[in-house]
Amino acid sequence: MSKRLEGRTALVTGGDSGIGAAITRELASQGADVAINWHSDNGPAQELGEEISRGGVRAFGVGGDVSKEEDATRMVEETVARFGRIDILISNAGIQIDAPALEMTADEWRKVLDVNLTGQFLVARAAARHFIEQGVGEGRRSAGVIVCMSSVHDVVPWAGHANYAAAKGGVDMMIKTLAQELAKHRIRVVGIAPGAIKTDINKEVWGDEEKADELRELIPYGRIGEVDDVAGPVSWLCSDEADYVTGTTLYVDGGMTLYPGFIGNG
Ligand code: NAD
Repeated sequence: MSKRLEGRTALVTGGDSGIGAAITRELASQGADVAINWHSDNGPAQELGEEISRGGVRAFGVGGDVSKEEDATRMVEETVARFGRIDILISNAGIQIDAPALEMTADEWRKVLDVNLTGQFLVARAAARHFIEQGVGEGRRSAGVIVCMSSVHDVVPWAGHANYAAAKGGVDMMIKTLAQELAKHRIRVVGIAPGAIKTDINKEVWGDEEKADELRELIPYGRIGEVDDVAGPVSWLCSDEADYVTGTTLYVDGGMTLYPGFIGNG
């Protein structure tokens, strides 16, 4: 069976950890070369790069902070320099700095918006510029695909996380607007919105039995998600099979956005 991303090249921001690492592995298993962005420690990206290279694709780690304009531009340029072109951007890097709104500092607000919203824009803009320059390559249906990592909190309000929810809500409108603006260049912009997925970002919830039970109450499907639940749908969104999909977000959440509080009520 042919691999759906054979010969494609990708950059995954925050590609060395959690959901990003699972996406890196999945894209590579589907035949894509992957540039793995790391932020503070190059070790995991290097190890992951060596691991996926054994499967026959090219890989390298690229350091950078998505919230810094020069880093965002350089990461895309390094991907193009190493692989010859860039077909796929997975704009995945994100952070949480939680606090009740009344206690949240301006720095805590700004930092999360800088990484989770401005960072997504800066890397997307840099990739889109390259997509336009390279055009639709041979054997490809689009000039490039941008997948933005959103969250169910682009539509579900989240007390104690005003900065995070505001950033993800912004990502939703950014996706739609970029998709509208870039479609004429045959660039697709799509979102993926996970529910609760077991990673470092939320370890203190799923790592605690009581909190994990409370969380499961919010998930009609009855289980907390795994990183691979997200990676498969992302690789499909990146492929030509999804060529007519743009400006929309796919929810991968076990039904978390289906108002679970209404089950058996009303
Ligand atoms: P994670 O902490 O394992 O991964 C976050 C990644 O972002 C890390 O690789 C980290 O190095 C990187 N990063 C942080 N700041 C950065 C910066 N300034 N520049 C570049 N990279 C930076 O957590 P995760 O759960 O895998 O999160 C990945 C994405 O998924 C985030 O955007 C997060 O909001 C989103 N998400 C996660 C869940 C979940 O339940 N885990 C749910 C919805 C959305």
